Amino acid sequence: MIYFDNAATTRMSDVALEALNFASKECYGNPSSIYKYGKKSRNLLEESREIIAKCIGAKSEEIYFTSCGTESDNWAISQARSHGYEQVITSKIEHHAVLNPVEALQESGIKTFFLPVDDGCIVDIEFLKKVLGTKKTLVSVMFQNNETGVIQPIKEIASIVHKANDGSLFHTDAVQAVGHTRIDVKDLGVDMLSASAHKFNGPKGIGFLYVKDGCKISPLIKGGGQERNMRSGTENVASIYAMAKALEENTNELDYNHHKIQVIEDKLLSELKKNNIAFVLNTKDSARATGVINLSFVNVDGEGLLHMLDLHDIAVSVGSACNSNDKEPSYVLFAMGVPKEQINSAIRISIGKYNTIEDVDKLVSCIVKFYNITNHVN
Ligand code: PLP
Repeated sequence: MIYFDNAATTRMSDVALEALNFASKECYGNPSSIYKYGKKSRNLLEESREIIAKCIGAKSEEIYFTSCGTESDNWAISQARSHGYEQVITSKIEHHAVLNPVEALQESGIKTFFLPVDDGCIVDIEFLKKVLGTKKTLVSVMFQNNETGVIQPIKEIASIVHKANDGSLFHTDAVQAVGHTRIDVKDLGVDMLSASAHKFNGPKGIGFLYVKDGCKISPLIKGGGQERNMRSGTENVASIYAMAKALEENTNELDYNHHKIQVIEDKLLSELKKNNIAFVLNTKDSARATGVINLSFVNVDGEGLLHMLDLHDIAVSVGSACNSNDKEPSYVLFAMGVPKEQINSAIRISIGKYNTIEDVDKLVSCIVKFYNITNHVN
């Protein structure tokens, strides 16, 4: 299997697998129990919190464990209701983990705005300033888009939000970025940040929410009072430890992985050109994360290409795999004003740290065959 869908999920690293195995075997005590086996699990939990905090420039008490990125996003957005925010602003290109809870707030009568994006997938900052006014607002803009890889000017947005009103909160869904881009929450000035382990070579079903010290938040999940009364439910110690070790490993290897992925991306794009494949990058010249390539091939149906590649054991995606049951054309590319035909031929190739140059050769050779058949090239 050649896996080019690393924005959908990633293969667990050996370090994360070992951590998962170790913690499952050695630390199965309930971290809330007050005897030795409980304390052992508690210690591992707190060690994990410290590792994660260090990786993103936070304090350990600012990290809350959740079951996934979707929960972190829902929890962040839920603050609008529990703390009486006057309005909520997000963007048209957010993941459904943000869009759906914001739409639910809208249906319940809270004023909401969905920021447009330009043809390079960057949110309209002037529109944000206009609707922000001086109202107490919850703003949520994603760090890196899952379909295009485009990175938003998060530091600038955080500063605009805080200047407009001291009581406003700024959340960023950084699920695609954490573990792949250097992140310093203090430098960014964000109040809340969501992350998910399976996007950075950790296990599925585990994530965290960073909440800046001093931000008043309320729990979304209520019960036994774990996570300092903020997120109830017995902590998934093994997955939390594996998440921490995966993030630590990726953070230590950021420059190495970035370089490796860049080399693979360059080779892929140059090979496509060398083979006279007509394609267009759907992201223009925007700041795009290395390794996330959203492109459309002329006269090629994206889904048809995906299935053909699948027959050759190569995985890519059309639109976002996180919404893979969604048969609608990509709302992200639509918001960018990409023509319908180009949307239908779009595919996302997302490169990860386990890809090799040989993977590119196989991918390109399959694309060339399919492209030449559909374009009647002999
Ligand atoms: N936010 C973004 C940007 C994503 O790409 C995903 C991916 O699935 C999520 C949120 C949801 O994360 P999870 O799968 O951990 O619920």
